[in-house]
Amino acid sequence: MNLYMGKMLVVDLSAKTVTTEPLRADWAREYWGAWGLALRYYTDAVSPEVDPLAPENVVVLMTAPLCGTLVPLASRMCLVSKSPHTGTIFESNVGGSFGPELKYAGYDGIIIKGRAEAPVFLKIDDDLVTIECAEHMTGQGIFETEKLMEAAMGAHGAKTLAIGPAAENMISYSMIGSESYRQFGRGGTGALFGSKNLKGVVCRGTGGVAVADMAKFLERTDHYTRNDLLCDDNLWAKTDGTPILVEVTNEMGIHPTRNYTKGFNGRKETLNSDAIQAAKLGNRACASCPMACGKFTRVNSAEIEGPEYETLCLGGSNCEIHDLEAVIRFNRLCDDLGLDTMTCGSTISLAMEMTENGVHNFNLRFGQVDEYLKVVYEIATLSTERGRDLAKGAKHLADKYGATDLSMEVKGLEMPAYEPRGNFGMGIAYATSERGACHLRAFPIFATDPHDIDALVTEVVNAQNANSIKWSLGFCDFWGTINTSIEADLMSTGLGEPVSAEELDQAGERIWNLSRLFNLATGFTAADDTLPKKIMERPLEAGPHEGRVFSRADLSRALQSYYELRDWSARGIPSSRKLATLGLDKTTL
Ligand code: SF4
Repeated sequence: MNLYMGKMLVVDLSAKTVTTEPLRADWAREYWGAWGLALRYYTDAVSPEVDPLAPENVVVLMTAPLCGTLVPLASRMCLVSKSPHTGTIFESNVGGSFGPELKYAGYDGIIIKGRAEAPVFLKIDDDLVTIECAEHMTGQGIFETEKLMEAAMGAHGAKTLAIGPAAENMISYSMIGSESYRQFGRGGTGALFGSKNLKGVVCRGTGGVAVADMAKFLERTDHYTRNDLLCDDNLWAKTDGTPILVEVTNEMGIHPTRNYTKGFNGRKETLNSDAIQAAKLGNRACASCPMACGKFTRVNSAEIEGPEYETLCLGGSNCEIHDLEAVIRFNRLCDDLGLDTMTCGSTISLAMEMTENGVHNFNLRFGQVDEYLKVVYEIATLSTERGRDLAKGAKHLADKYGATDLSMEVKGLEMPAYEPRGNFGMGIAYATSERGACHLRAFPIFATDPHDIDALVTEVVNAQNANSIKWSLGFCDFWGTINTSIEADLMSTGLGEPVSAEELDQAGERIWNLSRLFNLATGFTAADDTLPKKIMERPLEAGPHEGRVFSRADLSRALQSYYELRDWSARGIPSSRKLATLGLDKTTL
């Protein structure tokens, strides 16, 4: 089977069994891979009411069709399940090399069911797949766990997924690490592994991925690499990486500072791309990527791959921590203990504001480094009362202490580092994302008019559809100029059968609507398509958008327009006409 391995690995941790089943070729033609295909498998496997941390829940890991080929920036793989942090459907994806390795071992994806009686890890050595004891790894951080699993494989260079103590404690925003510094970062993916007593997965594969016409495939890959990927619009990833956004977002006035009180950080020079370049040791790339956007940095004895923009802002500016060494230490703690830096930083900044406003004293203050670093360990290990409080995330913290006007989340997921009062498009993207506040579904920060609601709604809908298929084909976000025509050409050449841009466009819309159906079936409604009170009621301080709010009336108008454009009812429910067009009319969840 060209591009696909044609086989899924099915691991039942309760029954202690490992089996394989043929890949559903009919689903692959409608959902293509990674996000879409994992979503199709997941929605078939569970009831929407499932408790995310119960043995009945399932975790689907899925590679993409171009993953493991020489197509650049196409090696990302996805995890789909129900989030223990938000209760929504959740897709998270990771770069690096685990996806290609899994395909070289012979599998398109892994379906993980049940719960092991005691800690285990999964060892995949081509056809030989075993469930191994991981009791000696209990309590170990991600870095050490990956080394132990690699040693157990007895092969240097085996690829790993691992959790740390935060996930063993089932903290709802714990993550799964891969190759030390890459993560299935958001939504509590780590807690899903933790709930299954699964400490990690180690994989070694010695096979390859077949393509229909190798010479033509290489020619098309080379053509798009030279003529589309390696252009000025994308090369920032190679030269600067995401830290370039520190200057960009400050200039736009959308750089969250002091728990989203200001849209501008007056001390940004300590955290910007120049600061990262000055601390840079080298670059790091995912499989088959010429961009190598990862930057290894060191300040004094603090070392990390990163920090990426979201961490620089949410763990830096938004906590008013202007010390790059401190942000690197924060980043490293999160990466090793297994916490999502975005939710962790955002929850700490909320606790800082609550302390300074006299709501509750967490002994956390803006700009105060020692306690900021101490509390990360307390969260991951649940070792203090404030650690246990902050371990539940911003929504729970604000609800418990009556500070809902300060909490910055949508559907329970803490907001990314782009201020919606300065760009309404980001607000529309956060309010309508299936997994809560997310910048990876639509990213309209470069819109001509950041407050033109009608234009921004159209841009958000188009981007959500395009990104749904882009993630499903395994492409990295940083190939920003790719489109479904390029994707269709590469897929056609690799598969050896025609694939049209139109069917990929439709697949993107299908994935978005199926996600919506799942969330509706779990009990989410249009009322959950909203924004934090602070965004709607409290004027932004500092920067070019000082004094702005994204009012309830503006949001309501945006949502009405959004639902109409999607052919959803005024209550945000997809019409039967739309579902029939997408082949979802027979879908029962
Ligand atoms: S641009 Fe960066 S994140 Fe994307 S594939 Fe390349 S190295 Fe990985």
